[in-house]
Amino acid sequence: MRVRVAPSPTGDPHVGTAYMSLFNLAFARKQGGQFVLRIEDTDRARYVADSERQIFDTLRWLGLDWDEGPDKGGPYAPYRQSERFDTYQAHVDRLLADGTAYHCWCTTERLAQMREEQQRAKLPTGYDRLCHGKSREERAALPGFSERPVVRMLIPADAPLMFTDVIRGEIKAPRPDDQVIVKADGFPTYHLANVVDDHEMAITHVVRGEEWISSTPKHLLLYDWLGWTRPAFAHMPLLRNTDKSKISKRKNPAARLLWFREQGYLPEALVNFLALMGYSQPDGEEVFSFSEMVVHFDWSRVNTVGPVFDLDKLGWLNGHYIRELSVDDLAGRVTDHLALTGVLPEPPTDEQRAIVRAATPLVNERMQVLAEAEGMLGFLLVDDGAFAVETEDAAKVLTADAAPVLQAAVEVLAQLDDWDSAAIERVLRVALVEGLGLKPKVAFGPVRVAVTGRRVSPPLFESMELLGRDRSLHRLQAGLTVTQAGAGG
Ligand code: GLU
Repeated sequence: MRVRVAPSPTGDPHVGTAYMSLFNLAFARKQGGQFVLRIEDTDRARYVADSERQIFDTLRWLGLDWDEGPDKGGPYAPYRQSERFDTYQAHVDRLLADGTAYHCWCTTERLAQMREEQQRAKLPTGYDRLCHGKSREERAALPGFSERPVVRMLIPADAPLMFTDVIRGEIKAPRPDDQVIVKADGFPTYHLANVVDDHEMAITHVVRGEEWISSTPKHLLLYDWLGWTRPAFAHMPLLRNTDKSKISKRKNPAARLLWFREQGYLPEALVNFLALMGYSQPDGEEVFSFSEMVVHFDWSRVNTVGPVFDLDKLGWLNGHYIRELSVDDLAGRVTDHLALTGVLPEPPTDEQRAIVRAATPLVNERMQVLAEAEGMLGFLLVDDGAFAVETEDAAKVLTADAAPVLQAAVEVLAQLDDWDSAAIERVLRVALVEGLGLKPKVAFGPVRVAVTGRRVSPPLFESMELLGRDRSLHRLQAGLTVTQAGAGG
């Protein structure tokens, strides 16, 4: 049993690549088969240089590792289609000799005009076979001739449109047009390269997205024409936005696999979430690991009604996984995330790591995604010179009314011997709540804003303990200056 995922490096990786990899890999692990990563880079016009590396990185980050691939090699190397061009030509020659494929010299202008006329006459659109059966010379005598031909499949009237899908059972696809299999630049198209490679790489099950169902009849024909055994096909449902439209990078940031990493979703949460897309465990359990998925994996558990990509659900799952982590593990991931987003340098210093480690127990219950750490912990990590009250909303707290509060806070804290959260709380309560007769919220609000720069922060006294005496007093003093300036004076 051999399966593959075959992404095209046309931009930063699509979430669908992870989705397909997950189901291919779960099936391979369940059956003891091999999972192949093949890079389908025959479309040079859409090729993006860094995309292949991003595909490797994001799939590895998710733990969806492959057995054979461009970076790993394997018995069927090379695994990059651009390195396999020699392989395709012999098969094309054979199809041309058999008459199942033919050259087409029509210019793009002629094809566009033909399509327009068909549409105007309300006819089905498709290639009109002007070139079929003609020699180069015969065709050259007619208008709309281009020097460099493409190669097309001659789709017969009785093309096989029905096939058995592993997930969907018997299905019928629409009749294809005379598909181009070699472009004018001599490069094979997806359809040819994909079939040749699946055959040569001994792929037994083609597991891919629903959008390829309509291409399957062409692929079946190529297998038949070349005298090869057809693999089994399993078409997974398309992931959909909450409005049921297809997930695309244009409309939904979550179509980008890198987005999940930038937002600070944990890979295990995203894998679990993707596994819930159109799939369920026997007990209906919603929280499960990849290995638990493998134990029960079966195609009969896939539901083909387009699963909705519900980010609230992912947020919930992610919060769950965050709370399952040990403090050390979570602190490490928070640190990595802060470095990924540029809040900390790469690599972070030991001191920065220690601060994040000490602060993690203050925030682990509150976090849904790691990106929230920046807002919650940024005040501990920023240089005092760069520290500023962050929002207008927070700045409003530092008015003239707050001056006596900060003044009193500075006085008692400057004299405090033990700088720990309990002692800080005790003296502030005595000075501000009892001494000035303020409600706790009114008393501690300005202190919080002065020290953390925000109206909402991790627990205040613990935060001040972590920040240390000097830095806390420095910020309170700076806050006091702001309030006094506001008072006109
Ligand atoms: N290169 C195709 C893609 O990017 C692969 C489709 C298939 O799995 O056959 O989706």
